[in-house]
Amino acid sequence: MIKKFLCAPGPTAVPNEILAEMSKPLMHHRTPQFSQIVSENAEMLKKVFKTKNSVLTLTSSGTGAMESSITNFMSEGDKIIVLSAGKFGERFAEIGRAYKLNVIELKAEYGSDIKASEVEKALKENPDTKGVYTEYSETSTGVAFDIKNIAKVVGKTDAIFVIDGITAIGAMEFEMDEWGVDIAIAGAQKSFMIPPGLAFISYSDKAAEKMKNAKLPRYYFDLAKEKKNLEKQTTAWTPAITLFIGLNYALKMMLEEGMDNVIKRHALVAECFREAVQSIGLKLFPEVPHVRPTDAVTAVRVPDGIDGGKIPALMRDKYGVTIAGGQGSMKGKIFRLGHLGYTDKSDIVVELQAMELALKELGYKFEFGKSVYTAQKFILEKFPVPQVELSDSGD
Ligand SMILES: *Cc1c(COP(=O)(O)O)cnc(C)c1O
Repeated sequence: MIKKFLCAPGPTAVPNEILAEMSKPLMHHRTPQFSQIVSENAEMLKKVFKTKNSVLTLTSSGTGAMESSITNFMSEGDKIIVLSAGKFGERFAEIGRAYKLNVIELKAEYGSDIKASEVEKALKENPDTKGVYTEYSETSTGVAFDIKNIAKVVGKTDAIFVIDGITAIGAMEFEMDEWGVDIAIAGAQKSFMIPPGLAFISYSDKAAEKMKNAKLPRYYFDLAKEKKNLEKQTTAWTPAITLFIGLNYALKMMLEEGMDNVIKRHALVAECFREAVQSIGLKLFPEVPHVRPTDAVTAVRVPDGIDGGKIPALMRDKYGVTIAGGQGSMKGKIFRLGHLGYTDKSDIVVELQAMELALKELGYKFEFGKSVYTAQKFILEKFPVPQVELSDSGD
């Protein structure tokens, strides 16, 4: 037997309590019991997004919500600016082009970000821009974009500011209303600790105004219809009932811990990973400090002369630890250690020990055990340890 650990940047590990909750006999969705779940979830999601507006839950993967952020707010030919420095930024541009929008792609190299000043310049050159679409945490490269400052720049214009927060919301600081984000998107299988199949989206009053004149076709992802149904504590279509129930439990766990603590935990885990991998000579992929790394995943450059594709494969098949390789043009060049959602101190050691075993087998020269040692030292010195009354060691 090989004990398995899911440590990818999505889907992420699901706590056993949540799996147990989801395995109960199925309930019907047009019932008072389910309506209560719907309204509790909606209230709790507002606390995660930090918004006064409704947060809608769609039965789809995250990309469905990304698509809805275009179809519900734009018309054919509308000009949008997409910040694109990774696979998910590119996806926004692809969706825009699929719906015949005039997409201006502000591109930067993978591993880099796009600064607020560049967005400001692009908006000046394109005063007819209807929306600015960006990633917050670009999962494919490990980069966090400076959402707070980009929001300030976009806020001065008529354009709406749309963020894909699929690995950011619930893992990193986020204040939808205070920062002035018009549309925010999150996804179940990342920081929300449940299996894939739900996406979350909230939109501001400024975006609601745009929606009134938006003419792109939509049917399943009709957010106005979904919002009307939410007001009646239900959903437009048959939802993924089981996932709504799992989400209810997950959100209670998150809010019980407190969103500030959830975010602090992710920040500490991420900092520990960065220090540990660098302690054995590995290089982070985004060039810190030029770029801010995301706290959801640590992207690491594959050392020269090592067959990069083999690192995640060995970790998974020999040691039971699933992480992620590079996507698209990053394939074989980076590997990505996931740490979001149900993640804590011990996950760091689990991932690092398997990474070291794989690297050793592939011929990388380093002081064996040092990244694990570095992480343990970090945990000892920096992690808050709950003050518990120790019981007898018991038998
Ligand atoms: C995972 C992810 C998505 C895609 O979501 P799906 O659920 O696969 O559709 C989009 N954006 C980011 C940043 C992601 O990490």
